[in-house]
Amino acid sequence: MMQSSTPRLVVAVLLVLVWATTSLDAQPDAVAAGQPDTPATDPQLAEDLWGFDDDEDAVETWGTLLRDQARDLALLVAFAALTLVSFFRKSVRLKYVTLVAAVVYLGFAKSQLISVVNVYGLVTGNLPIFRYSLAWYLFAGFTVVTTVLWGRLYCGRVCAFGALTQLLDLIVPARWRVELPVWLEQRAARVKYGLLAATMLYFLVTADIAVYRYVEPFWMFSRRATTGMWVGLGVLLVATVFVRNLYCRFLCPVGAALGLLSKLTVFRIKRWSECTSCKICEKTCEWGAIRGPEIVMTECVRCDDCERLYMDTAKCPHWIILRRSTATSKRPAASVG
Ligand code: SF4
Ligand code: SF4
Repeated sequence: MMQSSTPRLVVAVLLVLVWATTSLDAQPDAVAAGQPDTPATDPQLAEDLWGFDDDEDAVETWGTLLRDQARDLALLVAFAALTLVSFFRKSVRLKYVTLVAAVVYLGFAKSQLISVVNVYGLVTGNLPIFRYSLAWYLFAGFTVVTTVLWGRLYCGRVCAFGALTQLLDLIVPARWRVELPVWLEQRAARVKYGLLAATMLYFLVTADIAVYRYVEPFWMFSRRATTGMWVGLGVLLVATVFVRNLYCRFLCPVGAALGLLSKLTVFRIKRWSECTSCKICEKTCEWGAIRGPEIVMTECVRCDDCERLYMDTAKCPHWIILRRSTATSKRPAASVG
């Protein structure tokens, strides 16, 4: 449960975000930097198409580039810090503050999400121009590094769409939920890898990136869609009300790509020897990522739920058994005779 001061914290974060984004350009920077349809361009070329501007004072330096992008960089660093603090402190309250910030700032204000188009770009070497897209590189670098170090932290608290569906979870009554049988859940989780492979193949054969519109709903944050796509999004969100995190668990090609990357994860979630028989964490995991004693890193989004249980000395059998065996060993031996 979230603590009572959470609403105040959320309002404070919202106020900061509204202040920070009130003077942003109408076209979100990240869309221009790394997202579909608007490839990064040289701002000088864009503003001076005919080459009339010979003003030597306008010479571009790293100083001017950094100054121009300083606010985006600073806000992104602040968001990354919030993400890591909430993760390391295992704080439910800070996690929800991070999710709200992800939706409001990264989603609606900046349209800054990792898209399957970025995966295509990585494969073909077609990435945004570095010097004009420092915030995008910081964002993408943060995603890759955190995935290699800890797993799909990006999906658990950075992706604006994933954050939106997790916040939806807070308001949907638990009795509306449909729990899928394990065999179906495990098979459905493979669909996203098939979608990643299919769209990648389609892109490599046709060089057409427009396919992203039909496999990921992130365009909703930049509001560029046909009526059919909005209807599809509506159906997806309604389905998510009944099947928790439906898109993330079963359909997202970006989640699949990060899942494959998280096979390299260095710092994994610890397990106790008691985890072999105890099923408490397995039932707690809303992402279907715990199978017996094993945590399936490709599906785990580092939501902290099992780790909080794991450290709970009142609920986790490991601690209960440990306490009992310590008490037994301290008990004085019965006298004989
Ligand atoms: S699975 Fe996809 S939509 Fe879900 S959080 Fe990850 S990247 Fe975002
Ligand atoms: S409950 Fe544990 S295993 Fe499941 S997604 Fe969260 S952190 Fe990963």
